[in-house]
Amino acid sequence: HDDSQKLSLFYESGIYYFDDSNAVFVDPVRVLNRSYHRFTVSPSTYYSRFFKSPTTPNSVSSTVSSSLRKRKRKPKEPPPLNERELIALQRHQEARPLLLAAHECLLKSTELLNVLKTLKSESRCSKKECEGGQQHSFVDLGRGSPQLEVTLSLRVSDADTHLPPNELEDSLSVQCCEQKVLPAFNNLVANDTKDDAVAEILDNCYIVPRESCFYMSDLGQIRNLIPAHADSGFNLIVVDPPWENASAHQKSRYATLPNRYFLSLPIKQLTHTEGAIVALWVTNREKLRSFVERELFPAWGVSYAATFYWLKVKQNGSWICDLDLFHHRPYECLILGYSPGKVNNTDNQSKFKPVKNDRVIMSIPGDFSRKPPIGDLLLEYVPGLKPSRCIELFAREIMAGWVAWGNEPLYFQDSKYFVKK
Ligand code: SAM
Repeated sequence: HDDSQKLSLFYESGIYYFDDSNAVFVDPVRVLNRSYHRFTVSPSTYYSRFFKSPTTPNSVSSTVSSSLRKRKRKPKEPPPLNERELIALQRHQEARPLLLAAHECLLKSTELLNVLKTLKSESRCSKKECEGGQQHSFVDLGRGSPQLEVTLSLRVSDADTHLPPNELEDSLSVQCCEQKVLPAFNNLVANDTKDDAVAEILDNCYIVPRESCFYMSDLGQIRNLIPAHADSGFNLIVVDPPWENASAHQKSRYATLPNRYFLSLPIKQLTHTEGAIVALWVTNREKLRSFVERELFPAWGVSYAATFYWLKVKQNGSWICDLDLFHHRPYECLILGYSPGKVNNTDNQSKFKPVKNDRVIMSIPGDFSRKPPIGDLLLEYVPGLKPSRCIELFAREIMAGWVAWGNEPLYFQDSKYFVKK
């Protein structure tokens, strides 16, 4: 592809492939927006870190905490690394050349860097969106009011009815063909139409993309998602567990769970007869990496396939922090594995298309712990018929065609993250 062709593909898909390289740049806003008809994910709320004025309380607190961090740091000779830290360092040394090469691709791509500069001007910050009503804590609501209901407003798709745009309702409370009142928790809520649906809980609205479902519950209920027949299981399983770590805990954005809880995730039972690709987000802690390799994947019956890196960059293309800071890396890892389908089918493994190792996914990060959408990058490896059956565990957002499970899958579906087209 020539440059202009690549750029127009990027505008459409949100994904930019660099020639002869493992590197790819992703604009999560563009990728997510392919899930919606009548709404768009607002770049200003997705990339909120770039739109905060320097005087907002958040940036003050981050300055305070970073200066605290600085104070804590030993000024002189650091202590020698322990065995685990040495392994972590070795992993970092292996990743380093890949990350540097990928980053080089981005820095050389002037046309892409120019697009990143326009992110801000692309954003339309409507008043409603900026006011942002009080966001519910689904975890508290699930505990306090488990009987709470959701009103789902569904319409037969515009594509089916060929409604001209001027007949589309202009407000969030759309004129709908069907309203369903359903339990909000411990229940599979489905938008099986080909259009965006609006879900209302208490006074807040959430946008639910076409042909998607969410199941909002605690881990204790996850087994309710196991399909009655394995041939209606999943071919792509993305997992982003609430790992215990200083940063999630310190910022107390969500509750974390000790590693042993993840051993019992029913990955095998969620896997389709044809098998599944499992994509697991991990942090850079060596303890965690070795837990995944030695205990978690074996407990799930998943065999290791490849490692991808998510390299976080700023709007000007630079790393979000120094590449070689020991306790704070500008990248995270996505560990990929194969979950065989039918247990008896010994040949299953060879049916998987081998995943290309060491892919580097670059993107500008969104809110705390929000991961870029990676489904599209994996689809070519996903076994089974198309469209692929995909599920995200511990999800905070919903993609068109996917099932999202977690205790707050509607978190980023709040209408405050969207603008009406
Ligand atoms: N992938 C998400 C994103 O990109 O925004 C982030 C997921 S975050 C790492 C982990 C999620 O697990 C949080 O939403 C948290 O509330 C949820 N979680 C924590 N404990 C849980 C539990 N016991 N049952 C279900 N979900 C839980």
